[in-house]
Amino acid sequence: MKSLVKTRISLAVITLFTASWLMSCENDVTDISLDNQKNTAFSLEDQEALLFMLEEEKLARDTYIYLDELWGINQFANIQISEQSHLNAVADLLDSFDIDYAIQPEGEFANQEIQNLYDEFITDGTLSMTQALEVGATIEDLDIVDLQNYINATSNTAIISVFESLQCGSRNHLRSFVFALENTGNTYAPQFLTVEEYELIISNSNEQCGR
Ligand code: ZN
Ligand code: ZN
Repeated sequence: MKSLVKTRISLAVITLFTASWLMSCENDVTDISLDNQKNTAFSLEDQEALLFMLEEEKLARDTYIYLDELWGINQFANIQISEQSHLNAVADLLDSFDIDYAIQPEGEFANQEIQNLYDEFITDGTLSMTQALEVGATIEDLDIVDLQNYINATSNTAIISVFESLQCGSRNHLRSFVFALENTGNTYAPQFLTVEEYELIISNSNEQCGR
């Protein structure tokens, strides 16, 4: 992963050099032109979306680590690995756009909204195995909707591509938690997805996701 980042950086450096050399032949406003190019490719909203999703993927990972230790349910053990790769995918994007970020210790979040969700999920998930699985389904339900809102709001193709891949993973995770609930005679009612969106996901089989 590190070498990939390095390759990206050296490519970016070569591109910058070539661009500034070409532009310096044409005019003397090189710096302004380059800055403008950067801004149109990546907005402040994109930055906020990535920093938010970094912690939302961490919310999923940390909650599943906690509930796995508590209940020893397969789904939590397996899906936390996938959440780690989702977290890495968002961190890679932040690296590629040269945005500073910090990954807080397990169970801690810079965003208070996400911290409150974590605290609530841990409390609820401790009550029973069924509640723990419901927490899992709730996180995936929320994740799919948040990713969709960010996909709709951006024109950055790198972000759209990664977020669509994370969404694909989240649909598989949602199916996994819902089937576990149904196997134990329970049901899940969507809290963020519409009933139509939810039923479409549940009626489809698992997907092969990009990442
Ligand atoms: Zn995820
Ligand atoms: Zn997930």
